[in-house]
Amino acid sequence: MNEELDLETLAVRAGIQRSAFNEHSEALFLTSSYVFVNAQQAADRFCNRESGNVYSRFTNPTVTAFQDRLAALEGGEACVATASGMSAILSTIMGLLKAGDHIVASHSIFGSTVQLLVNIMGRFGVTTSFVPLSDLEAWKQAVRPNTRMFFVETPSNPTMELVDIAALSQVARSASVTLVVDNCFCTPALQRPLALGADLVIHSATKYLDGQGRVLGGAIVGSKQLLMDGGIYQFLRTAGPTMSAFNAWVCLKGLETLKIRMEAQSKNALALAEWLERHPAVARVYYPGLPSHPQYDLARRQQTCGGAIVTFDVVGGQSQAWHIIDATRVISITGNLGDTKSTITHPATTTHGRISEEARQAAGIGPGMIRLSVGLESVRDLKADLINGLG
Ligand SMILES: *Cc1c(COP(=O)(O)O)cnc(C)c1O
Repeated sequence: MNEELDLETLAVRAGIQRSAFNEHSEALFLTSSYVFVNAQQAADRFCNRESGNVYSRFTNPTVTAFQDRLAALEGGEACVATASGMSAILSTIMGLLKAGDHIVASHSIFGSTVQLLVNIMGRFGVTTSFVPLSDLEAWKQAVRPNTRMFFVETPSNPTMELVDIAALSQVARSASVTLVVDNCFCTPALQRPLALGADLVIHSATKYLDGQGRVLGGAIVGSKQLLMDGGIYQFLRTAGPTMSAFNAWVCLKGLETLKIRMEAQSKNALALAEWLERHPAVARVYYPGLPSHPQYDLARRQQTCGGAIVTFDVVGGQSQAWHIIDATRVISITGNLGDTKSTITHPATTTHGRISEEARQAAGIGPGMIRLSVGLESVRDLKADLINGLG
């Protein structure tokens, strides 16, 4: 599709390949395999002499449509979709690294990502060092001769810390390391890491790409060289954590409303963040769209707005945080985020409950912290719901 088109247009138009029926809306292809016209074609397809679908673990037209559309939105050459965000991270590591290799990651990354890096990859001889996200000097110092990958989330979960992607990509480039950015919190509607110098973008499509809390999904976007020749797609089609056609269809349609959802939810989030910052029962608000955020200038350069996640510390620690969460009637108490329905979480005892106290402190997650994923409800109703417990 035309690379000159705007994101809004690509979100509804990119990736469409109509079948012989000429359907207008994107079709859902629920098929595990594909029929060949003759034995010669079967042989050619299996041996890659002819391109085309063979088996849905390798390719499926609905999954391909989602991949092509997301690649267009992120400004990447290629995309591979996966069963979940975690399988996107796993496939990236399995595709590009081998025993003896080393990863540098930021302290403040998704809890399951820490588990995957430390407890699982560690067993296969891939080691990880953790550094403070925004400390570029620490990234430089952490590089060893066997370092192959930098892994970051920006903004980070749940402390909303940022890293200057362009500056970190310089560090990565001079060390010949692949820079992987988990773009879950911003999505391409607000931030495009590849244009800033990242090599790969990871998504949990479970979050904003679906956006309505229906399916699990993930994706990796980047150059054809890294994805197709570098081993990631090869791992995926061989090991099988591929995205299902149904989930791809849901996420494909989700992309059509991504930008208007992100903008509306971010607007609600900013209004809540400004209000929380003035509330006497709130000790601190972490939101990159507020001038009080220590990296506000970077946020304005790197993202189009602050996003739809607001984290805050309440006075009174865990018991007060739990009291506020339990007093909500509209907002859902759930660990998920990125939904049109607002959700509320106590990171220290849920998403980051299984990491060590030391790691939690390094990630800046205290007992009074609450993470709010702001949805499409009215700001008035959301405020009223928080006032139930906040006072
Ligand atoms: C949820 C999440 C993941 C994992 O995605 P799943 O789809 O749950 O496997 C990875 N990174 C971030 C930042 C997330 O929020």
